[in-house]
Amino acid sequence: MTGSAPFEKSTNKENEDPTCSFCGRKRSESKAMFRSETARICDRCIAKMKKGKEENPQ
Ligand SMILES: [Zn+2]
Repeated sequence: MTGSAPFEKSTNKENEDPTCSFCGRKRSESKAMFRSETARICDRCIAKMKKGKEENPQ
């Protein structure tokens, strides 16, 4: 038999490797990935934002 595709198995969108909308890091490369309706953000960018807020001189 011919014509059987070995990659047909995983077509679930949940299996896609999403990337952070801010730094482009893959989910598999970050500890955690948070998803909103419009964007995704990794744990590093969240930590960065928190830090930036705290250190913001204004
Ligand atoms: Zn990020």
